Amino acid sequence: MTDQNEALRRRGLAFLRSKKALIHNAKVTMAYAGAKRLIAVIKANGYGHGDVWVARTLYDNLHVHDFAVATLAEGERVRQAMPEEEVQIVLLGVQPAEFAPEMVAQRLAPVAGSLDWLLRAVAALTQSDTNGVLSVHLAVDTGMGRLGAKSQEELAAMVDFVRTCPKLSLAGVMTHFATADEDNPGYYCQQLADFMKMVTGLGIEKDKWHLANSGSALFHRDDVPTDNIRVGSVLYGYNPAMQDRALPVELKPVASLVGRLWGVHLLKKGESLSYGATYTAKKDQWVGTIPIGYADGLKRVLSGMSVLVNGKREKILGRITMDQIVISLSERVPINTQVTFIGRDGEEEITIEEMADFGHTIPHELLTGFSDRIPRVDVAE
Ligand SMILES: *Cc1c(COP(=O)(O)O)cnc(C)c1O
Repeated sequence: MTDQNEALRRRGLAFLRSKKALIHNAKVTMAYAGAKRLIAVIKANGYGHGDVWVARTLYDNLHVHDFAVATLAEGERVRQAMPEEEVQIVLLGVQPAEFAPEMVAQRLAPVAGSLDWLLRAVAALTQSDTNGVLSVHLAVDTGMGRLGAKSQEELAAMVDFVRTCPKLSLAGVMTHFATADEDNPGYYCQQLADFMKMVTGLGIEKDKWHLANSGSALFHRDDVPTDNIRVGSVLYGYNPAMQDRALPVELKPVASLVGRLWGVHLLKKGESLSYGATYTAKKDQWVGTIPIGYADGLKRVLSGMSVLVNGKREKILGRITMDQIVISLSERVPINTQVTFIGRDGEEEITIEEMADFGHTIPHELLTGFSDRIPRVDVAE
């Protein structure tokens, strides 16, 4: 494992991640929602934090044994690292049914969106002479429009088929909310009511229902069944609603992002910098160069964003390039001075929410975009 100083010395960058914060967030969210089971969503490399790192940490410390990813490749990778019998890995995204034999072999439980999908999966299993049983979660589409049964008849046909087919077993039934983190109860309540209407009466045990994403667990715990919660964002310690709604529990950011000033120089009055020469010094000023760019996931739209140096706010000057940026320095500082992009430095803090707000996006998009050019480093706090 890379140590922070070594990562900064060699690469000038480190994506710091805290197990303590991750465990704290999982605990407080489960307690607040009253959840008995946590399906930890670790798709897209654990929202950038490292899928296996997240899974291992939650399993070893809290005995969490349900994880959800989006793709077959992600599932296979997590399965390799987590071979334990009791570990369940759910595939949330739409999948090609012809890969059902691989799913059985790796014990991956896909979300099935239609009877047709189930039929194709079973055909693939039959053709490949696979002996094992495919665990499936049935999706109900109540308003995301991505996949799932849209009526009770459709869902009932899927349930009947799974119950009678020896190659399938029913692991769960789920839906996904489109507006859980918004102050828009109308759409949310309609989705919930539709789910209840479709699922009730089919005899699926309640401990197989999983509906609540982060927004539901935080803002709708009294509306929605939360025995099982299927959450991502909250685990990573940020508010899925950003500044629109206050968090009801204290979450701790798992990730911070720091770098090093590898160059410090004086920009003379009238001199410009970076592509397009969009920034011109109004007076002589100190500036610093850091080896981070949009190829690392520091998106170009973040040009002009604040960073922290010695507890003070500085700014990214001119355009973010592929591999390097230049920042303002209110005074001359030594080479190798630490720069904080996300995190705390003294009294100042830049949160992922602030960065997302500046970039007109959401924290998920930024976190999943930090590339593997940035070393991931574990920190104690
Ligand atoms: C990504 C995803 C989640 C997790 O959402 P958060 O808002 O990060 O908690 C849950 N369920 C499904 C189906 C998803 O695609």
